[in-house]
Amino acid sequence: MNENTRAIVVSQFGGPEVLEWQESELPPLGPTDVLVRHTAVGLNFIDVYHRTGLYPLELPFTPGVEAAGIIEAVGSNVDDLSPGERVAYTGNGPPGSYSEKRVLPRTRLARLPDAIDDRTAAAIMLKGCTVEYLVNRTFPISAGDVVLLHAAAGGVGLIASQWLNALGARVIGTVGSEEKGELARTSGCDEVILYRVEDVADRVREITDGRGVDVVYDSVGAATFEASIKSLRPRGMMVTFGNASGPVPPVPPLLLSQSGSLFLTRPVLAHHYTDPTEAAEGIAKLFDMVLSGKVTPLIGQEYSLSDVSKAHQDLEHRKTVGSTVLTT
Ligand code: NDP
Repeated sequence: MNENTRAIVVSQFGGPEVLEWQESELPPLGPTDVLVRHTAVGLNFIDVYHRTGLYPLELPFTPGVEAAGIIEAVGSNVDDLSPGERVAYTGNGPPGSYSEKRVLPRTRLARLPDAIDDRTAAAIMLKGCTVEYLVNRTFPISAGDVVLLHAAAGGVGLIASQWLNALGARVIGTVGSEEKGELARTSGCDEVILYRVEDVADRVREITDGRGVDVVYDSVGAATFEASIKSLRPRGMMVTFGNASGPVPPVPPLLLSQSGSLFLTRPVLAHHYTDPTEAAEGIAKLFDMVLSGKVTPLIGQEYSLSDVSKAHQDLEHRKTVGSTVLTT
């Protein structure tokens, strides 16, 4: 008989109330699998899209795309990891991290360096890998590039502010409050725009002496798309990589020519980490940034995993800052 675990299960799409704490059975451990006991799980906005069905998954499912933990058992063909070792993983595979224990393919796991504790790992794996591909692969940043970064005090946002700053970019961050603005500044934003009281595109033109920015990293989606397009220099790059305010409606190609022959991309992690080698390279770069002190993730709030519906409410109501960690 297979081992049991407790996990959050979604049996129908909906609000935070559909996140139910249940007993469930673990699948058998295959020869190339590893059984991990989670110690810290990361909360991400993508978990909200999965819960609501914006990114539809087959029901029922356990959400969650990043976590850290300790190995309890390894399959017969796994010879480079052992029980007791600390590991973590990011979102390049099916969700399921909202659970006490989980069976995962060995190829998804990264061994954690001693200097990165489990909570920190849970705070950075998906968010930090996302920043890694955005700044290195989607639009490779050079020193002196001017960047507009939305939700600069969020989980992805604070890591991006620090990483962009370390690469020598000039970072203009947008935030929803003075407190978040302070946090964004201390994390590497050179300029902060309070979008509730300032016009984002006008302020960007002022700050850049009319030129516009080289690239926009926009995870807010519907609410910010227009201002983002208006903030770019000719031939600038619009990177729309999330939908915190709702998905961006269809865009006519003529808008891009009329706005300055712009480039538009809608990237996801899975297409940048298409195989274990690409993923390992990205994760290694992320660990380097953390170990060198260039990226110091902020865990703004913690919840117990069984109380994750409260964490979802706070994330959706813009009450969180930095990363959120769920503990088992
Ligand atoms: P955040 O911590 O950034 O939380 C979302 C933030 O967005 C809020 O705190 C809020 O900040 C801002 N926001 C603006 N408008 C809204 C709105 N209407 N509703 C809710 N929030 C709003 O979340 P994450 O760090 O987990 O994720 C950030 C984004 O990155 C998400 O859109 C996510 O989907 C995307 N992402 C994309 C990936 C990809 O590969 N494409 C991978 C990982 C994440 P403020 O108060 O300052 O406005």
